[in-house]
Amino acid sequence: MRKPVNAVLSPVRPSHVILNSVRLSLSKSLFFLLLILVTPVALLAQRTILHCGKLIDVAKGQVLSQYSIIIEGNKITDVQAGYTKAAGTDKVIDLKDKTVMPGLIDCHVHLEDETSPNQYMQRFIFNQADYAFQSVVFAKRTLAIGFTTVRDLGGTGVNISLRNAINKKLIEGPRVITAGKSIATTGGHADPTNGYRKDLMGNPGPEAGVANGPSECMQAVRQRYKDGSDLIKITASGGVLSVAKSGENPQFTEEEIKAIVSTAKDYGFKVAAHCHGAEAMKRAVKAGVNSIEHGTYMDEEVMALMKQNGTYYVPTITAGKSVGDSAKKPGYYPDLVTPKALAIGPKIQSTFGKAYKAGVKIAFGTDAGVYMHGKNWLEFVYMNEAGMPVMETIQSATVAAADLLGMSEVIGSIEKGKLADIVAVEGDPIKDVQAMGKMKFVMKDGVVYKNE
Ligand SMILES: [Zn+2]
Repeated sequence: MRKPVNAVLSPVRPSHVILNSVRLSLSKSLFFLLLILVTPVALLAQRTILHCGKLIDVAKGQVLSQYSIIIEGNKITDVQAGYTKAAGTDKVIDLKDKTVMPGLIDCHVHLEDETSPNQYMQRFIFNQADYAFQSVVFAKRTLAIGFTTVRDLGGTGVNISLRNAINKKLIEGPRVITAGKSIATTGGHADPTNGYRKDLMGNPGPEAGVANGPSECMQAVRQRYKDGSDLIKITASGGVLSVAKSGENPQFTEEEIKAIVSTAKDYGFKVAAHCHGAEAMKRAVKAGVNSIEHGTYMDEEVMALMKQNGTYYVPTITAGKSVGDSAKKPGYYPDLVTPKALAIGPKIQSTFGKAYKAGVKIAFGTDAGVYMHGKNWLEFVYMNEAGMPVMETIQSATVAAADLLGMSEVIGSIEKGKLADIVAVEGDPIKDVQAMGKMKFVMKDGVVYKNE
């Protein structure tokens, strides 16, 4: 038990002189004690003040003029009208001629890899380290264009180490929420041995994310937990870039997806479902996945089901357009892939337009890696072209994306108590969406990575 200070000041010895001198020496020692305790804290608590010419309030969907954001450590401690004056050790960053907004979130990227005509050969000549080194470059590029958080929806598993290296500040990159390796059925979109020579195909199994039947599906989810994934990604339908015939056939039964979703819940995982075909979407939404990725052949029934279940749609229009364009270059993709890319790729934008009008919840996602990393901002342009106001496109990449990630408490808006993920562009994106490609200031977790 602590000796109470009151014992010294107790009226047992009532002399005023003694009492006063005791008080004096006590207050002196208290003063020095406080000084020792408080000084390092005071040094750490240097404030950064951002003077924002325009500030996008994504929660209310409005643009504020002449505001200040106060940052201490990695958190936003206040947002004030006007340009707050600096005091003492405060550091001011002048963004008076910029439009400031929360750090952007891309809910669908693949940081390990990037499109190239040689990509299919890489599977035979790349070691894990080759993926690791290039992912460092892609991560840095992604952060530099204002994406402070990304959801990596599948690679070899190197993306888990990438996340850890970024969190340790060994390398620069966005905050990564990763699925590790996607889960598919045999021959499904994320079966890593699709298109191989038969003696090389083997049977990858649940450990490598290939699962058949509810039991293996559960095992595949648990393996992701063991690996250190943050969420589960399944390929519920065929896909464009896998060396397989159909880009839309359903590849899991509803029972299998239910096994995945319920097991995922045990581990606090959300489930993202890659789907192009409507039947696969119906099964996935009914089974309770959190988001439908791509959604190319989404019909009205699917849209109604998604609204009913609160399922997010992550459109990835940029990737669709990019694969459609690349497929026109002779030899860019294998023969089985080219017709799928031509049919599916260009269709996503119109599907997005319909889903938006129908009132399906939209979270921003681009499938970066399927196109060149660093062009994620084009998605804002394409969403806007399809009928979504720019403000809503920005909300889809901030508040809505944070909600899909289950991270609304910490990211997605510029509010007191949230992490200091703040970016700024030149110009006014609400008036001209192209401004989203003019990223001039990037702060993640209170650290400035770019200030031009
Ligand atoms: Zn993808």
